[in-house]
Amino acid sequence: MSVARTILLKVSDNQWLRENGTRVPFIRRAVTRFMPGERFDDMLGAARATAAEGIGAVFTRLGENVNDPGEADGVASHYLEGIDRIHQLNIACEPSIKLTQLGLDIDRELAYGHLRDLARRAHDAGSYLWIDMEQSPYVDVTLTLTRRLREEFPRIGVCLQAYLFRTREDLEDVTSRGIGVRLVKGAYNEPATVAFPKKSDVDANYFVLAQIMLGAAARAAGSRAVFGTHDLQLIQSIRSHAQSTGVKASEVEIHMLYGIQKAAQQRLVQDGAQVRVLIAYGDHWFPWYMRRLAERPANVWFVAKSLFG
Ligand SMILES: Cc1cc2nc3c(=O)[nH]c(=O)nc-3n(C[C@H](O)[C@H](O)[C@H](O)COP(=O)(O)OP(=O)(O)OC[C@H]3O[C@@H](n4cnc5c(N)ncnc54)[C@H](O)[C@@H]3O)c2cc1C
Repeated sequence: MSVARTILLKVSDNQWLRENGTRVPFIRRAVTRFMPGERFDDMLGAARATAAEGIGAVFTRLGENVNDPGEADGVASHYLEGIDRIHQLNIACEPSIKLTQLGLDIDRELAYGHLRDLARRAHDAGSYLWIDMEQSPYVDVTLTLTRRLREEFPRIGVCLQAYLFRTREDLEDVTSRGIGVRLVKGAYNEPATVAFPKKSDVDANYFVLAQIMLGAAARAAGSRAVFGTHDLQLIQSIRSHAQSTGVKASEVEIHMLYGIQKAAQQRLVQDGAQVRVLIAYGDHWFPWYMRRLAERPANVWFVAKSLFG
């Protein structure tokens, strides 16, 4: 792992900066590259614009590790309302939530209650519901609650991270239950005891996992396969693999983050792939933004530039 990445990920965990970093004007200016704005309506505007280009959306209100039950209730209400509004407007825009934002650190059943309410509302609105994956200590509980939710609701998916050693086993289990998977490389600072330290090993594992997701067993179980990555070489390998195994181009779904690889998103749509962008909004964006900088430390130059206007 590069030194810059490690430093940025450590900064993302700093409590003081989490609370105060979003008030610094030049950091506020720089974040607009990845975020259309802090309000739900800013996200909607961006989702409408991408829909016009044949690109769907996934929405997420930023925030994590909520430790006040009232705040967790507020987050759940916000998502319930958001699902309703999107349904009324008939926009292709699916919710993606973090369990610690729904109160997982306070009480597992509190978070599950909210999760279940969201799944029911999404189900009634004909929408899919995505569950993000957070740091490795949350993986077991996230998967346990996802499996429990799947017993009631068919249209749910969970994020799995290719950097973790355990993910292959998790992926086989989750896909066999018909739960959708959004495969990502992984955004957190994980120890070498649980995650591949070398990026080339993460990339290789990603491709192995992608092949399982597109394989006969996962497809027969009805698991939706989504590749959450901006790695164009990897996407090309996955698309070639799909073609050689008789999976249609339109069944290879790529999700990217708003503001990253826009030209490539459009090319993929032209080539017949299904593409969505994950659009984040909200005022608790500091740790999330630091993870975006850590993914490509060259992004720090954009922050430096915005320091000078
Ligand atoms: C839709 C979506 C959902 C996600 N959900 C989760 C989640 O729930 N849990 C989790 O741990 N992680 C999540 N991630 C983040 C993910 O784990 C990676 O950290 C992130 O996607 C960067 O890895 P990459 O696959 O793009 O590959 P990389 O090899 O890191 O990047 C490939 C290329 O993409 C470009 N790129 C990548 N990141 C950036 C960036 N920030 N800014 C500018 N260019 C960039 C660069 O050109 C780079 O060379 C999500 C990512 C996406 C796209």
